[in-house]
Amino acid sequence: MKKIAVLTSGGDSPGMNAAIRAVVRKAIYNNIEVYGVYQGYQGLLNDDIEKLELGSVGDTIQRGGTFLYSARCPEFKEAEVRQKAIENLRKRGIEGLVVIGGDGSYRGAQRISEECKEIQTIGVPGTIDNDINGSDFTIGFDTALNTIIDCVDKIRDTASSHARTFIIEVMGRDCGDLALWAGLSVGAETIIVPEVETDIKDVAEKIDNGIRRGKKHSIVMVAEGCMSGEDCAKELTKYINVDARVSVLGHIQRGGSPSGADRMLASRLGGHAVDLLLEGKTAIGVGIRNNELTDTSFEEIFRSNEHKFDFETFALANELSI
Ligand code: ADP
Repeated sequence: MKKIAVLTSGGDSPGMNAAIRAVVRKAIYNNIEVYGVYQGYQGLLNDDIEKLELGSVGDTIQRGGTFLYSARCPEFKEAEVRQKAIENLRKRGIEGLVVIGGDGSYRGAQRISEECKEIQTIGVPGTIDNDINGSDFTIGFDTALNTIIDCVDKIRDTASSHARTFIIEVMGRDCGDLALWAGLSVGAETIIVPEVETDIKDVAEKIDNGIRRGKKHSIVMVAEGCMSGEDCAKELTKYINVDARVSVLGHIQRGGSPSGADRMLASRLGGHAVDLLLEGKTAIGVGIRNNELTDTSFEEIFRSNEHKFDFETFALANELSI
């Protein structure tokens, strides 16, 4: 293996730069040339590809976002379009491609490895949603979690001054992990996630009981994949007369300097991706399980339903918020 390329695709997440840096440095350490593809699969099609040097990734480990930029490229689902991308890699003699992104990005990489046997592809899980099978954690999840905690701690100050109920809508797409982890970490009264059916009447009763007991405020953490914060507020006020305010944290959750945990994860996974390319592996997503580096085929990642929701911790959160 003499030349590889790296790209970031789909929704960005804090720590993507640290992952690119690890890929670039580990490859150069192993005498492999590295090319950066700008704007994800769109850049592969547009031939927006540039050789990266050791210095190209200097001063990036602490930066949020991705210096290679990210883009959505719907036409990449078409085989003829992908041929153009493959050609742009082949003409440079690139034999390996590291794709940092979510499961949509993995599908693009899987297609490339199916359609061109000379190009090995490895996926690195980069998304705040923590929704990729084969890895306990994805790059960006921990930073987003800490951003939410920071925001809710501030909201809590004003919530208690005015004895209000705050409904916080957080990201995560169809995965409730961000809402669960953030909800438990901020001591939310209720956590609403797509994985668990919730009766809003019960939520209203819990808030009401709290107010009767003299609680100054309540925090309800809602995962966007379950319902919007606004809908949650509307439903709640059907049952109780409560001063409910909604905060939709939005894209603030995707930004910021990556946490220590995300820098570590990104560095380890990026380095592991290069190791797998050197071993001749392809169509594999790297991950971490019980703090051990793992490799899972794309096929298995798409087939299994393994990234299971942590119902035990969800139950604990309920027990701690009585
Ligand atoms: P994420 O990687 O965060 O899940 P998307 O689902 O938007 O984000 O996917 C990112 C990009 O991956 C898409 O814009 C497209 O270029 C590519 N992609 C997604 N699904 C496929 C697919 N089935 N086949 C080929 N490429 C795909």
